[in-house]
Amino acid sequence: MADHILEVNHLKKYFKTNRGMLHAVDDITFRLERGKTLGIVGESGCGKSTTGRCILRLIEPTDGEVIFEGEDLLKLGKRQMRARCSDLQIIFQDPFSSLNPRNTVMETIAEGVRVQKKYRTPAEIEKRVLELMETVGLAERLINSYPHELDGGRRQRIGIARALAVEPKLIICDEPVSALDVSIQAQILNLLKELQRKLGLTYIFISHDLSVVNHISDEIMVMYLGQTVEKAPSAELFANPIHPYTKALLSAIPIPKVDANKERIHLKGEVTSPIDPEDECRFAKRCLYACEKCQKGCPKLKEVSPGHFVACHCFPE
Ligand code: SF4
Repeated sequence: MADHILEVNHLKKYFKTNRGMLHAVDDITFRLERGKTLGIVGESGCGKSTTGRCILRLIEPTDGEVIFEGEDLLKLGKRQMRARCSDLQIIFQDPFSSLNPRNTVMETIAEGVRVQKKYRTPAEIEKRVLELMETVGLAERLINSYPHELDGGRRQRIGIARALAVEPKLIICDEPVSALDVSIQAQILNLLKELQRKLGLTYIFISHDLSVVNHISDEIMVMYLGQTVEKAPSAELFANPIHPYTKALLSAIPIPKVDANKERIHLKGEVTSPIDPEDECRFAKRCLYACEKCQKGCPKLKEVSPGHFVACHCFPE
């Protein structure tokens, strides 16, 4: 039987605005197997990062359940949640702004090592920091460097080492390679995969780039305006995309071939407002296949083949 480390049920996050309630995350449900990666993909403002932050309670969700190893994190008090924090970590998009510019590599990683309380003396802490630096591929000579002295790839490696310092079980990678050059992106993705294999880590990998998500994920969840529109194992999603939005995202992936013959789906129309949205398909205003029934209620996720879920009134036909 599958060992699910995380179960998210009907997660919602609404923000009060002057114009009404903004539905940033609207009824998200998924389960994640230990040691696997769930990729969450969608355009800016679709709620993918908010979902990640709600799971960690960096933002308090409006409703729902986040069951981590059998315990609902949303029911924990502040102290209990703090005790759970070392099991769940986050790696941010911009390593420069997420690192304290006044702290050296040693000081940044040592903060997490001290939390563990396993390493007490300065010599033990330094030894552990050096171990972590080696794990993420940072040379020992950089131990006293400051973030501004390092390139983006090395800064992201510090972010990863800092997350690993508390020996987490689940890491939320929030656009961890978006700010990096393409060649460095591949190095960081390969490092994350290697660490997963060695340490048995579970990832939620958030990105707007479907090809990046595909490189690392076992399963992919596509989000649009706070909702899941399609979820499937990665290979299945790429081989058999069903939702019109997923098809448009896939068509936008560039093919590195001069004579590549691929038709790009251009989405037209305005994006539906996430403030008090109507009870209709939220993609309807941009969908090439929208028809009368798409205005009659928000489509629910249905399993169309084992493990492949789609929320659409018209597809599969
Ligand atoms: Fe398009 Fe209708 Fe499906 Fe929405 S429900 S994605 S509008 S076909």
